[in-house]
Amino acid sequence: MLADLKPHRKDLVFDLVEEAGFDTTDWVESFKHAAGYKANPKYCYEWAYVQPGKLIILNLWHSNMDEEHGQIVHRGTFRADAEFRRLKGGKQQWVDRARRLDEALQVALRKNLPVRVIIVDGDRREKEAVDGPSSKVRFRKLDPEPWTITAYDWETGACELTRGILEGRFVDQFDLEQTSKSAPERREVTTSSFIRDPAVRRRVLARANGRCELCGEPGFKMASGAVYLETHHVVPLADGGDDHESNVVALCANDHRRAHFADNREEIARRFQVRNGGASMSVSEVAVTS
Ligand SMILES: [Zn+2]
Repeated sequence: MLADLKPHRKDLVFDLVEEAGFDTTDWVESFKHAAGYKANPKYCYEWAYVQPGKLIILNLWHSNMDEEHGQIVHRGTFRADAEFRRLKGGKQQWVDRARRLDEALQVALRKNLPVRVIIVDGDRREKEAVDGPSSKVRFRKLDPEPWTITAYDWETGACELTRGILEGRFVDQFDLEQTSKSAPERREVTTSSFIRDPAVRRRVLARANGRCELCGEPGFKMASGAVYLETHHVVPLADGGDDHESNVVALCANDHRRAHFADNREEIARRFQVRNGGASMSVSEVAVTS
């Protein structure tokens, strides 16, 4: 399956983004050159294309994709790649392109845009060789299937993309818009903010299986096909609560507000603590009793 996705032609980027539905008007008009607009350097070396309100297109290496449980996934942290290149004195355009790729993911998440992928193959530059020759794309093609951003950590930019539109997957509020938190300069000053482990949230969403753990009703289905519930720490992190499944529940949006502000919020918290086996337990205590 993954092998079938390996490109064996080298189509022009211009033709592929146009095929995906990207508006190439500026690509054509901003390059009146004899070489032809399809070679417009403003566009054709980019790693990501964003058409606001419509779609994003990412260039992804076939060699970075994996096949897991019958699905094709791509994991990476483009923000960290940009920073790595910057610190190592890599070419500024590579730093910028990696950064723009990370920003494209954020736009797609905030605006719920489709993600299309141009699969590339060829000679990749060693990650450490920031001053070495550029990677050489030998083959590329547009994947006819759209992709889904199945996980994105707004704090770090760590991203998981999965091929296909995935019906019935679960997302919470941290998968959606996090405008202020995603800016690196802001992350540095908010040292008091608590880091939530995305793996804990994923496990809680899987446990809830799409149903609010207070009222039992299904979360609503999003335009992307995902099911939305909000993750909630029963004992807040700020009060010393653990970032562990035993202290996290998945709630419908209404019950999440209820858990924070209702007159019976303390009773609700106690109910979860009993059900989850004591929210104040540390990880080691859970390991002993289970
Ligand atoms: Zn509910």
